Parts: sequence; structure tokens; C-alpha cells
Amino acid sequence: MPLIIVTGFPTSGKSTRAKQLYSYLSERIETATAGATAPKYRLHLISDQTLSISRTVYDLSALPAHTRSANASEKDARASIYGAVKRVLSDKDIVILDGLNYIKGWRYQLHCESKAVRTPSCVLQIGCGKERAQGVNEERLRKRDEGAAAGLGEEKAEANEDEAPYELGNWENLVFRFEEPNPMTRWDSPLFTLIWDDDEEQTRKVFSELWDAVAGEARKVVKPNQ
Ligand code: ADP
Repeated sequence: MPLIIVTGFPTSGKSTRAKQLYSYLSERIETATAGATAPKYRLHLISDQTLSISRTVYDLSALPAHTRSANASEKDARASIYGAVKRVLSDKDIVILDGLNYIKGWRYQLHCESKAVRTPSCVLQIGCGKERAQGVNEERLRKRDEGAAAGLGEEKAEANEDEAPYELGNWENLVFRFEEPNPMTRWDSPLFTLIWDDDEEQTRKVFSELWDAVAGEARKVVKPNQ
């Protein structure tokens, strides 16, 4: 089964939605499997946090301009994400890839990978205004600095990697570099969108459409050479 690529600004609510999607899909798989001996699909959630990738790998602000395109740490991070997806992706495995996924060439590469194993891919965009996402990051920076001032050690910060902030320049840069998904392209479609204010009902509606596209009636047969 398919690859679900989550994308959005940093601190826009991607992990929150990815976890909600994980619970929703677990329920759907359970229902779809009722009466069978083995689950119809296996479900995986892959993110920077599950792979222990730090926010700092995206930070170009410390690099001189001419070496930015060769940012090795981000490339290494992408290689480990790619490896983790490739290891599990199959027609029986639903992979939720929670991450920035902000480069269109990268989403294209992931789309090709799912085609190679003849399984669909789709994109879930988390729509969130810049100011709101920025506010979340600044609040996290404030908490981290307060923690540091109160003498809480690094172990505490590491234990809470999910809530780790991006440095200001890193955050700004990522928003600037973000390449908006385009549903007219093969690799960004089908494209589903959730915004911050979407309530539970709307969220379930979008998740249900997503399930239909990747596992239900609307699912297309994937041929590797298309
Ligand atoms: P990201 O994965 O994009 O960095 P998170 O999912 O960690 O973002 O969300 C950042 C913060 O915003 C979290 O504290 C989370 O509780 C809150 N949050 C995220 N989405 C929503 C939402 N739709 N409504 C209210 N709060 C949200």
C-alpha cells in the first residue's frame, strides 16, 4: 500500500495531523481486516523524530552562501529518510512520512519510489499561516531558553525532541525555501489539505477521502512505467 507524504511549514502542525491520521488509519485497517486472520495492511509512521534527525540539519545560516547547495547534513538526513521509507514500502504497507518534505524534486523522488513498488502515493499538505507557525516556534524557543536558564540539562531537551524549536534563521529560511505542492503535477497528486482550524468532522472527511484514494474504491492501478 501507499506512501502518504505530509508537507507544510516548520511548526505548522504536521506531526499533530500525522498522529491523528495514524489513529484514523489504524481504525480503518482494523475494520477492513475484520474476520481475516492477518491485518490487511501494516501501518508505519516515519519522521525526523523517529529517525533521530535533529532540526539543525536544515540550518544553512551557519554555512557560507557558496557551500549551501552542498549542505551535507541535510543530504545525509534525506538519505536516511529515503532508506527508512524504502525498507518498508510495499503494496501491503501504508507509510505516513511526517516531515517538511518541502523540495519538489524530493517529493518527485518519493513518488517514483512508490511507483517502483507499484503502490500509490499522495500528499497531505498542512496549511497554516506563517504568523501562527512562527508563533509556535517562538513559544518553543522561549520555553527552551527558560529551561536552559533554569539549569535543565541537555537530556531533558533531547527527551522532548518532538517539541524542539528551530533557530530563528533556520525557521525563516525553511519557509522561504518551501516549494508549495502543485496538484497539477503527478508527484503532488492526489493532494489533500488540512488547515489549522479544521475541526474533527472536517479532518475525518479529508482522512476518509485519502483512504479512498489509496486503499478504497478510488484507488488507481499503478504501473511502474507510467
Ligand atoms: P510540526 O510537526 O509542523 O513541527 P506540531 O504538530 O509539532 O508541528 O505542532 C506544533 C504545535 O501546535 C503543537 O504544540 C500542537 O499541539 C499545536 N497544534 C498543531 N496543530 C494544531 C491544530 N490544528 N489546532 C491547535 N493546535 C495545534
